[in-house]
Amino acid sequence: MRVSTKWIGIFALLAMAPQAFGWGKEGHRLIAHLAMQHLNAKAKAGVAQLLAQGETLDSIASWADDVRNQRRETSTWHYINIPLATQPGDWKPFCPATGCVVGVIPELIAKVKDTSLTTTQRGEALKFLVHFVGDMHQPLHVGDNGDRGGNDVQVVYLNRPTNLHSLWDTPILATAEERDPQLKARLEKKAGIFERRRLAKGNLADWVWETKAASKQAAYGQLPAARPAILGDEYFAQASPVVQLQLRRGGVRLAQLLNDTLGK
Ligand SMILES: [Zn+2]
Repeated sequence: MRVSTKWIGIFALLAMAPQAFGWGKEGHRLIAHLAMQHLNAKAKAGVAQLLAQGETLDSIASWADDVRNQRRETSTWHYINIPLATQPGDWKPFCPATGCVVGVIPELIAKVKDTSLTTTQRGEALKFLVHFVGDMHQPLHVGDNGDRGGNDVQVVYLNRPTNLHSLWDTPILATAEERDPQLKARLEKKAGIFERRRLAKGNLADWVWETKAASKQAAYGQLPAARPAILGDEYFAQASPVVQLQLRRGGVRLAQLLNDTLGK
């Protein structure tokens, strides 16, 4: 494709846009919605006690993105940049002093549990926790190729210019839901015992390396070399099942963390 000056103009605008914030609202909502269905009675009551009247896990799932500009100290908590070629091992060298998604989750769990804190403080920790467990399952929030988790990789997806990071936040899921009207209900549906066991396996460190592997294989591994990378149905067909699996994993695992934290 010849890149016209119009495209260059659009990309210049995109380049100035701030770093994207993680799964779009729909991805975060789906993860929280699935988690809600897997909470035990005690965890459900604990969540209700910490959230404000009328709030639910799915209604607060994107709150951390809404406050990101006011709460500057939280801006690096949404991701960890692990270079694609890194072998699984210690993630700590990739976590900056300001914090990272996998580092902040245990701290938030401790705050949610800490009854010496006020309900408001614990509720806030819960809202951050719900969001960051979601972000940790977005492949471009973990894998990095020296391009700010794909933010600097220009792509044209189904004729629309965007970047690789944003593509995985929203448009792939949006296309999948557009093309399959039953998908939303399937993604929201409570997992059976076998699916649940399979998806919940492992711990935070396992999950972060698994997400990194997904970014290497499915997000970067299938990219053509040209920039902007022109992506269509073929890219969508391999990316969409990965997005769906990551959302299911995120939901089941979030429930497990909340049951361990509030449901015992
Ligand atoms: Zn986020």
